[in-house]
Amino acid sequence: MITENEPVVGRFAPTPSARLHLGNLMCALVAWLSAKSRGGQILLRVEDLDAARCPYMGENTRYMLDDLAWLGLSFDGEVLYQSRRAEIYAEYFERLHERGLIYPCYCSRAELHAASAPHLADNTPLYDRRCLYRAERGELPPVGRKPAFRVMVPDSEIGFTDAIVGDYTENLLHDCSDFVVRRADGVFAYQLAVVVDDALSGVTEVVRGNDLVSSTPRQIFLQHELGFSTPDYCHIPLLTDAMGRRLSKRDGDGCMEIVRAKYKTAEPVLGALAAALGLLKKPESITPTELLPLFDLEKIPKNTVRLPEGF
Ligand code: GLU
Repeated sequence: MITENEPVVGRFAPTPSARLHLGNLMCALVAWLSAKSRGGQILLRVEDLDAARCPYMGENTRYMLDDLAWLGLSFDGEVLYQSRRAEIYAEYFERLHERGLIYPCYCSRAELHAASAPHLADNTPLYDRRCLYRAERGELPPVGRKPAFRVMVPDSEIGFTDAIVGDYTENLLHDCSDFVVRRADGVFAYQLAVVVDDALSGVTEVVRGNDLVSSTPRQIFLQHELGFSTPDYCHIPLLTDAMGRRLSKRDGDGCMEIVRAKYKTAEPVLGALAAALGLLKKPESITPTELLPLFDLEKIPKNTVRLPEGF
């Protein structure tokens, strides 16, 4: 936990695998307001780890920078690109290796899914540690298959108190099992990269979407193992339409291309987001700077963030 007087360093860390949508921008806005309203800094990190899905400086990244500028959100320092940082991740991967926490996993996707292990919420099977015991059982690794690398998790509870979600705890062994930190194609996994980057950038506060709550215990575990401190966490609920329905990507709901064509300027869009977040009583045109004195994490709805009627 961060002490009260430490300067706040927040960040927004999108993956540019598609053009940003309004839900991403809501997280960017809250991260920005939370840091800036306390005189802190806000950093921007492009999570383009997977070059096949998001090429360095590809179209989605360029749109993303443009959409953020259009909204009027400016960031401190240089933009970090994960695709340029593989050597740094390799160094921390090596540290985990030296601590005896890493082992190669030769299981194919089909083998993983064929295992009768219980499945996690995202439908991936709970890993049964088959490859951890491979050598012990005298089984040779399959010829010609490159391994992924997993980190061995403890059979213990890891929890944190989120500013919105409240207390959240997982037993990593039973709720998650050993997870991949380097894929078979050599790409470092999000969980490792995010922990290394947040720590090296001095991030004290992570504001992001609710879908990442269950990644947080894994990240806290890696922070402990690598000797990093744990930032404060704030996971924002899903952005929905006025009825509480998920925005339909197929209909282009929330897609920035459509939002920008419809609204021309950012102020009404910011006003709608601010009203949805409980920072304004009703939607009205507003700038990020004008929102600073109105920002209060306590006002953000706990379950879903609903866009105003007719937006
Ligand atoms: N890159 C992740 C995403 O776009 C977010 C990572 C994070 O904020 O920790 O979903």
